[in-house]
Amino acid sequence: MEENTQKKTPRRRSTRQRRVILDVLRSTKSHPTADWVYEQVRQEIPNISLGTVYRNLKLLRDLGEVMELSFGSTYSRFDGNPELHYHFRCVDCDRVLDVDIPAVEELEQEVRDRHGWEVFTHRTEFYGRCRQCSRQREQTPTK
Ligand code: ZN
Ligand code: MN
Repeated sequence: MEENTQKKTPRRRSTRQRRVILDVLRSTKSHPTADWVYEQVRQEIPNISLGTVYRNLKLLRDLGEVMELSFGSTYSRFDGNPELHYHFRCVDCDRVLDVDIPAVEELEQEVRDRHGWEVFTHRTEFYGRCRQCSRQREQTPTK
């Protein structure tokens, strides 16, 4: 009986870890880094390691439960919404915001038709300055 319980523990633990990580990601629209997710998850599971959080994020990404957004050479951001949608990155405050226009899925067909490649998905990112940062700039007198 006791042996049985011990055998089951690791699997149950990893299921719980994954669920908590997913809940944390789905509860925010901020497209956080793995470190941020780790800090939140730790409040629920104090002994979890950053490596475990990272591994689970990659696994959830492979399962199509979350999206990983990598921006060049910097660290990845994660998105609890795995549906195809676009993002806007503010070059001043570094925030990543959802773009509220529908993804243009026809683009994939166009590329397929033009090149004969199999296209699985596409990603589009917009770069610029968010409203908040624009306002701040207007209010700060330039030297
Ligand atoms: Zn900004
Ligand atoms: Mn998003």
